Amino acid sequence: MKIKRLAIHGFKSFVDKTTFSFPSGASAVLGPNGCGKSNIVDAIRWVLGEQNARHLRGKDMHDVIFNGSEARKPLGMAEVVLTFGNDEGLAPARFANFTEIEIARRLYRSGESEYFINKVPSRLRDIVDLFTDTGIGTRAYSIIEQGQVGWLINAKPEERRNIFEEAAGINKFKPKKDAARRRLDSAKENLVRISDIVGEVKRQLNSLNRQAKRPRGTRRCATN
Ligand code: ATP
Ligand code: MG
Repeated sequence: MKIKRLAIHGFKSFVDKTTFSFPSGASAVLGPNGCGKSNIVDAIRWVLGEQNARHLRGKDMHDVIFNGSEARKPLGMAEVVLTFGNDEGLAPARFANFTEIEIARRLYRSGESEYFINKVPSRLRDIVDLFTDTGIGTRAYSIIEQGQVGWLINAKPEERRNIFEEAAGINKFKPKKDAARRRLDSAKENLVRISDIVGEVKRQLNSLNRQAKRPRGTRRCATN
């Protein structure tokens, strides 16, 4: 899925609603220092569900709401809407009939927060699930900022492996693998318990066999 549009309103320095279009091919955002270039990346990260304000260069999540300037009063809500094109039908099956997928996030100063997928109120989980294994995600390899290229090169092999696995689209199978492994472990424990019981019953059987083989007369004598 490709990003088609990004609409930002009340988020960081974007006090008025601003829409960016991303035609096919590469797009670049140019501008002087402090004009809001990184805020655009923050907006994308945020709408994808980022929960850590520090990853958005703030202390508190409310820091993303436009907090006023000399000429403008602070706003009460931040909203970001990110639109993906689904022309190639790469979205999950339930979105097959949509040519566009639009995810939106809102945060009010009151603390209330909302997520939408194609204008339908949704949970954060739905948004995370939508992007599992697409490589799009708050922590995914798709957002590579200054400094991260260096991190990638110097990363530990396991960290680099995570990135490759996400790109290869096998992440969604990992929880299933873990669940199967847990079931196998529990089946193994049951087997050990059963073989203990079998051992115990065998011991009892042997002892009963020994008792049964004792000459009957001996027993009669003994009891008489
Ligand atoms: P550079 O080229 O230096 O990296 P940049 O274009 O990436 O700059 P940003 O970091 O995106 O700039 O934007 C910084 C600006 O955003 C600052 O002027 C800051 O005051 C403003 N800003 C950040 N959060 C808010 C907010 N909540 N309300 C209003 N303005 C904000
Ligand atoms: Mg910047």
